[in-house]
Amino acid sequence: METVKTEGVILRSMKHSESSRILTVFTEAQGKISLMAKGIRKGKGRSPADPFSYMNLVYSYKSSRDIQVLTQIELVDAFMGIRENMDKMRSAFAVCELTLRTIETQDSHPALFAILVETLQALNKTTGSPHNYFWRYGLRLIQEIGFGLDFNSCQSCGKEFTMEGGSFRFSFANGGLICGNCQDKSESLVSLRGESVRLLQYLNSGGIERAGRLKPSSPAVKEIDGLLLGFLNYHVEGMKGLKTAELFKY
Ligand SMILES: [Zn+2]
Repeated sequence: METVKTEGVILRSMKHSESSRILTVFTEAQGKISLMAKGIRKGKGRSPADPFSYMNLVYSYKSSRDIQVLTQIELVDAFMGIRENMDKMRSAFAVCELTLRTIETQDSHPALFAILVETLQALNKTTGSPHNYFWRYGLRLIQEIGFGLDFNSCQSCGKEFTMEGGSFRFSFANGGLICGNCQDKSESLVSLRGESVRLLQYLNSGGIERAGRLKPSSPAVKEIDGLLLGFLNYHVEGMKGLKTAELFKY
């Protein structure tokens, strides 16, 4: 048995009994982990142990157990700026569900943990488009699990794209754009408009500060959601979409 002290973001909180809950937490130290939390009652107000709350945690860890035992929990940030805005809430829940569905249990990803915290902090205070933060997080998560996407050059012949010309094709199999000359050889292509490609280029490699300022048209929103979720469904076993994505309005 070992005592683990770490920061974590709650991904899911499920009632176990009248006075206990099972928390699924993305921790800095050990990645995604399940914790038995005794004495946390869901009262009338918001519990600090709700999804996307950022906590300091202490738990006792035994490798033979699937669920570890939480001994201390302290709120770092409940992100009230997110909880007061429905669009921000949808993006934050989608970010949590994406992490829950794609990251293996006890597979440590400290860089992704930092990106998760940075994303929630930015979402908390943004006055821009909340959905963009979900996309940016999704693109970074895809990089972290080993499939970096490329929106700058053809994934078949390597030719660099110019932004002239209206139609782009993205390949789920190759994780990037395919040029006109190579399209016949490629399978599972989806079409993207230039606007979506520019936004994806920016969110895939740009800083978080300006991520919310870009205001996509509603066809671009549909295309980018379709691309990210389609890519994950194609590559991550058992993914099959996100429940929270059904909440997105177009
Ligand atoms: Zn090509």
